[in-house]
Amino acid sequence: MPKRSIYDLNVKGKRLFVRVDFNVPLDAGQISDDTRIRSALPTLQYALEQGASLVIASHLGRPKGERNREFSLRPISIRLSELLGQPVTFATDCVGPDALQAIEHSGQNGVTLLENLRFHKEEEANDPVFSASLASLADCYVNDAFGSAHRAHASTTGIVPHVTDAATGLLLARELKYLGALLDNPTRPFTAILGGSKVSGKLEVIKNLLPRVDTLLVGGAMSYTFFKARGLSTGRSLVEPDLVNATREIEKEAKIQRVNLILPCDHLVTTALQADASHENLDVEATGIGDRLGVDIGPKTQQAYANIIKESATVVWNGPMGIFEISPFSSGTLAVAMAVAASNGTTVVGGGDSVSAVGQMGIAHQITHISTGGGASLEFLGGRTLPGVEALPNS
Ligand code: ADP
Ligand code: MG
Repeated sequence: MPKRSIYDLNVKGKRLFVRVDFNVPLDAGQISDDTRIRSALPTLQYALEQGASLVIASHLGRPKGERNREFSLRPISIRLSELLGQPVTFATDCVGPDALQAIEHSGQNGVTLLENLRFHKEEEANDPVFSASLASLADCYVNDAFGSAHRAHASTTGIVPHVTDAATGLLLARELKYLGALLDNPTRPFTAILGGSKVSGKLEVIKNLLPRVDTLLVGGAMSYTFFKARGLSTGRSLVEPDLVNATREIEKEAKIQRVNLILPCDHLVTTALQADASHENLDVEATGIGDRLGVDIGPKTQQAYANIIKESATVVWNGPMGIFEISPFSSGTLAVAMAVAASNGTTVVGGGDSVSAVGQMGIAHQITHISTGGGASLEFLGGRTLPGVEALPNS
């Protein structure tokens, strides 16, 4: 059931409370990457064009319920004002007289940015009184913070029953559209590429995607737990011994579901986690790994994966193929990213590190949808309902 969207609201002359995700990386008080602020602009600009006054709220970092200058949203109000091309009043508190005064000051069709929601412990505790205080600042509510939708907090769920109308923002709606389509009606052939550090963090995603995909390509550290289960030598590679059985179950389930579950056929092994350590490509069936560790997929695997990606109509990718932070170990991740970018199908990339790899390579514009969610994207793909989405009315 689709959710009510901001397009369904009549916001003219109304105060609109917009929960955004302005949890941007800060470096000595400077915003080092403003992608998250830019991502919220379509919703904010649309609401302003419709004649709404905006009361914008976000969390930033983990101040744990206490005021902490290090996590103040003040620098963000300056950047937001530049991007919107209009004044933004900064409220030194997200509730109470400071908030109200700032909103009054912004006036009709104005913009107020509230101070960090998490300066109050009631935010994460989803306190009903605090939720009501937030709601009292506005008439309607829009949630555009997909990255926080997996948390039931005052500003994501608690506030909803206290406002007269609520809806998804454009960013949240886009996430639900593209991630939802992967689970509901993907165009075939549908390929999932899963890598990254651990099987444990991705188990739910694998289990939920298996009945839906045609092919599952495995890479990253996750491969080594599968190799262990197959009796291959893994040297000092990252293996999760507790999950060896789980990977056997996944392989069994893949056979039942007739899914091509493909593991790397070759890999890059190194003596140490340093760029200058001696390293070479080995077939995974080879016995010569010794006490070295696997840190990337090899060239044969890169080629094989690229061919499969090319033939796919839908591709979802989460998790780097190797330790891409160390440049000699990044070629597998680069090759997969290039193949996904070159695909003519619908492509979705999710997960903090995968998204940052795509960003660093400058190919983000060639991906159909880059999920901003991190943890929320994985929970969604793992089949969980997100409380922040659940709380919003259906259309
Ligand atoms: P995402 O944030 O995209 O969901 P993860 O957090 O699951 O991805 O995994 C990213 C991390 O996995 C990276 O820091 C990368 O170095 C690590 N990684 C990938 N391959 C390996 C490997 N073979 N051994 C150890 N770590 C790996
Ligand atoms: Mg990560």
